[in-house]
Amino acid sequence: MYNEPALVIFSGGQDSTTCLFWAKQEFTEVHALSFRYGQKHEKEVELARAIAAKAGVDFQVMDAPLIGRLGHNALTDATMPMDSEQPEGGVPNTFVPGRNLFFLAIAAVYARERGIRHLVTGVSQTDFSGYPDCRDSFIRSMNVTLNLAMDAQFVIHTPLMWLDKAQTWALADRLGVLDLVRHDTLTCYNGIPGDGCGHCPACKLRREGLERYLASKPFKPSQDANLTA
Ligand code: ZN
Repeated sequence: MYNEPALVIFSGGQDSTTCLFWAKQEFTEVHALSFRYGQKHEKEVELARAIAAKAGVDFQVMDAPLIGRLGHNALTDATMPMDSEQPEGGVPNTFVPGRNLFFLAIAAVYARERGIRHLVTGVSQTDFSGYPDCRDSFIRSMNVTLNLAMDAQFVIHTPLMWLDKAQTWALADRLGVLDLVRHDTLTCYNGIPGDGCGHCPACKLRREGLERYLASKPFKPSQDANLTA
C-alpha cells in the first residue's frame, strides 16, 4: 500500500468503479474526478457521484464540453447511430478523439494542485475496442509527457490494462464489490444502468465477461455447506 493519496479518473462505469475500489485498497486517501464532456448520458455523472458517496471518497466534476464539441462521434452526437462493431481498418464512431488525452492532462493539473502524484485510470488494452488511447504505449508516453510538462513525478496506474472483462469482474469480486459494480454502474451506450440495454457493444462485452467469470468461479465452501444442510 502507498502511504500517499491518489486521484481516480472516474466515469461511474464498470471499469473505473473497479479501479476506484482497487485504489481504496492501494492508497491511504482516494479522490475521484468525473468529466462532463458533452456525453449524451450526462446522468452517468450523477451515478458516479452516488458510487463515490458509497465508497466514501471525495468526488469532483470538471466541465470540459470542449472535448465533445471538437470531434464528431456517436457518444456526444445524439443524431449519430453507433457502430455496433469495429469497422475494418478504423475506429468505431463511439471513439471520442483525444478523450483520454484531455482527461489525463486535466486530471494531472487537478492532482498537482492538491499535492497528488498518483493517477488511476481504467483503460485496458485487452478489450480496447480499437481505441488508440486505451493502449499501454499511449499511457506510458502520456506519463512521460505530463512529467516533462509540469516537471513532476506523476505515476499513472492502469490496474485493468492487461485484464479482459471476465478478469475485471474477478477483480471486482475480490475487492468485494461485484454486486455494486453490477447494479450501480453505467456502461451501456444507451444510458441504461446496471445490466443495461443488453444489445449495444458495451453491454455485450460486459455481459460476456460476467458470464465467463461466473462460469469459471469455483464453489465457495459456504455454498457447499448450504448444499449439504
Ligand atoms: Zn447497452
